[in-house]
Amino acid sequence: MSSEHFPAPNGMLPYWRTEPHRLDNHRSTEALPKESDIVIVGAGYAGSSIAYHILEQTPSGSKPPSITILEARQACSGATARNGGHMKPDIYNFVATIEAEHGVEAAAEVAAFEAKHVYAVKDFVENKKIDCDYTVTKAIDVQLSSDHFQKLKNGYERLLSNGCEPTKQARFVNAKDAESFSGVKGAVGCVTYDAGSIWAYKFVLHLLEKVVSQGVNLQTHTPVSKITKSTNGSSSAARWKVETARGTIIARKVILATNAYTSALAPQYQNNIIPVRGTCCRIAVPPASTAPRLTCTYTLRWNGWDYDYLIPRADRSIVVGGARTAFIHDLNNWYNVSDDSRVLEDAVRYFDGYMQRNFVGWEDSNAYTDRVWTGIMGYSSDGFPHIGSVPGQEDQFILAGFTGHGMPQIFLAAEGIAKMVVGDVAFEETGLPRLFKTSQARLDRQENNILKGGPGNGSSQAKL
Ligand SMILES: Cc1cc2nc3c(=O)[nH]c(=O)nc-3n(C[C@H](O)[C@H](O)[C@H](O)COP(=O)(O)OP(=O)(O)OC[C@H]3O[C@@H](n4cnc5c(N)ncnc54)[C@H](O)[C@@H]3O)c2cc1C
Repeated sequence: MSSEHFPAPNGMLPYWRTEPHRLDNHRSTEALPKESDIVIVGAGYAGSSIAYHILEQTPSGSKPPSITILEARQACSGATARNGGHMKPDIYNFVATIEAEHGVEAAAEVAAFEAKHVYAVKDFVENKKIDCDYTVTKAIDVQLSSDHFQKLKNGYERLLSNGCEPTKQARFVNAKDAESFSGVKGAVGCVTYDAGSIWAYKFVLHLLEKVVSQGVNLQTHTPVSKITKSTNGSSSAARWKVETARGTIIARKVILATNAYTSALAPQYQNNIIPVRGTCCRIAVPPASTAPRLTCTYTLRWNGWDYDYLIPRADRSIVVGGARTAFIHDLNNWYNVSDDSRVLEDAVRYFDGYMQRNFVGWEDSNAYTDRVWTGIMGYSSDGFPHIGSVPGQEDQFILAGFTGHGMPQIFLAAEGIAKMVVGDVAFEETGLPRLFKTSQARLDRQENNILKGGPGNGSSQAKL
């Protein structure tokens, strides 16, 4: 397996990047700084959130650390700008698998942490007046297989009887009412609870604008080629040499916010964070259409691995992601793939007529696929993100491996990383779920759950 998964130079244009911000191609200085207290690699949701929280947590009256953000392509041009925008916590699905394998306390930590994002981000967006279409609504997880619905129900009941508090928020709708409740043809059950949707590119660019105005040096179009230990630099504490084609930066601390592309710089993650290609589309609805207006977000779930997710937008368009059934049969299409420069042709065909096929009253809607794009997710082999100090690499940190599910994990995880970086706080004191801690034991783990979640196998670990 190659570890040369650097961001492709020519990622295709997703809908979310059609209104580029003035910082999209920003370079704070013409040349790279020679030294920086902290270098963050990656300017997506993770990198921008980390920079924001580091500055927030710097004690007032102290000089903030110098921070440089190095981004291979444009600002926020990776998965964050290519996703479904679904801020949907998992409070009962993969959480039931976690409970079975790691116990109810660990499962409840994950569920509570994810659920907290929905309102933490809402409050943050409202307080800071961020224009990013953040909407809190109900997610409707629509079940299209009775067997799978029963399996989920069993897991849910076990979570409740074992006292998993966050799961209580989920409400089940049974077969009799499922189709009328969801408006989805053939629905045999639904699960509903609070979730959000967001224009993540706009959120991230707001964070970048804020931190750049506070002195952070943002350098787009600057791929990092290598990170090695350093003994040079003016400070005796200088540790890391961050190399790019535009020069080298000596940094005291380095933070990898590189998600799918992590193994290119940290090869020890090669078997633990795998680039996985996914796809989304935007379905447009003509103004004269009489199709019912969608106000909730949806997941349409046919089984453990085959599902789509939908977020409706104020202009009535709908962003739909998934389409796995159209391309999962050929691993070369999606597994260990970091090229986001072209569409998955089978997915394009799959999205055609999607609303007409699946939603009651949409048959004559004239809804049409207006744009399809791909993006690269960082799937972790055990299903949990890697967060914290990189094992054996002092002053190197990681926040990556979100398995297509980073929206309800990253913002508060970045707050935790900032505590570790600014305040030397131990992972265990950050409040982050214990299972998210990166560790040598996780790196040494041989098992890979990603392919177990495919057709003919057990449950999928991706949780959108
Ligand atoms: C098609 C698709 C649909 C998705 N839908 C959802 C969804 O609806 N809900 C959800 O929760 N999650 C979803 N996800 C996942 C979610 O988008 C990610 O978990 C999240 O955006 C990860 O953020 P990040 O900052 O870690 O990664 P990214 O946004 O990928 O940022 C990493 C950045 O690092 C840069 N980088 C990497 N290597 C280097 C290097 N060597 N030098 C310099 N820069 C480098 C990259 O260019 C990139 O900009 C989806 C993802 C995809 C692809």
